[in-house]
Amino acid sequence: MEKDISTHINTYNTGNYGLTFEKSGGVDYFISRPLLDEHNILVVFTTRRGGVSTDPYASLNLAFHVGDNPDNVIKNRDIVCRRLGLDAARMVCAEQVHGAEVAVIGKFEAGRGAVSLKDSVPGVDALITADPFIPLTLFFADCVPVVLVEPNKRVISVVHAGWRGMYGEVIGNSIRMMVSTYGVHPSNFTAFIGPAIGGCCYQVGADVAEKFSHKFTHTASWLNGTTLHLKELSKLQLIENGIPPGNIYRCDGCCSSCRNDLFFSYRADGGTTGRQAAIAAILPDGA
Ligand SMILES: [Zn+2]
Repeated sequence: MEKDISTHINTYNTGNYGLTFEKSGGVDYFISRPLLDEHNILVVFTTRRGGVSTDPYASLNLAFHVGDNPDNVIKNRDIVCRRLGLDAARMVCAEQVHGAEVAVIGKFEAGRGAVSLKDSVPGVDALITADPFIPLTLFFADCVPVVLVEPNKRVISVVHAGWRGMYGEVIGNSIRMMVSTYGVHPSNFTAFIGPAIGGCCYQVGADVAEKFSHKFTHTASWLNGTTLHLKELSKLQLIENGIPPGNIYRCDGCCSSCRNDLFFSYRADGGTTGRQAAIAAILPDGA
């Protein structure tokens, strides 16, 4: 019996650009419908449902590096892009090394990582662009997907933030790079925190917990012993970098481990599993 995910998406989705859970042609995903309608900017978080891959990648695995049949990955990317009106051949992907480096993507980089891992953008965990028709796409199975949008100046970023990335401040790095490259201001940003492992299911080693408690503030809200609330910490990092709390949206009920039926989870699946994606794209103004 399928649980109704919509009842679990809550408090942070009461503002203008909240995420909704949609099913289209067998593909289940979260989308900011208002952002698309008002600004022609697409923000989507996929789930594991709707693809052609078989176990342990069933079914909508979108990443090449996990051991799945690459033909199935390409088919899955095509399925998603067709649903969303995107060109899969122009997708840009990053190597994702659990670091904190950021790359600014221009039109000549369209398609990097679209059909193979080899030409993805190396050594980075966050991508930024102001160019249209370039779907920035990163992959997740427990780590936190963060999408940043300046809707009026039309600048977007997708960030891969696991504990290592957050410790290295990949979120802040991406915000600072957007500011320095495009002259935008974080007070005008909208941010989305996608499906990731929740504090309910995420224990880290005592050494990691200690590193975090030494480096960051407000620990009571995101650290409880060795339980690390990654999504809460990502929200705090967004706020500390100048994004208004009311502009932050997230899937609160979306623990990838608790909802392993809906999401790939590295921990719940025992390490070998697929990846869902966070996708952001600027569509042409007035389209
Ligand atoms: Zn959980």
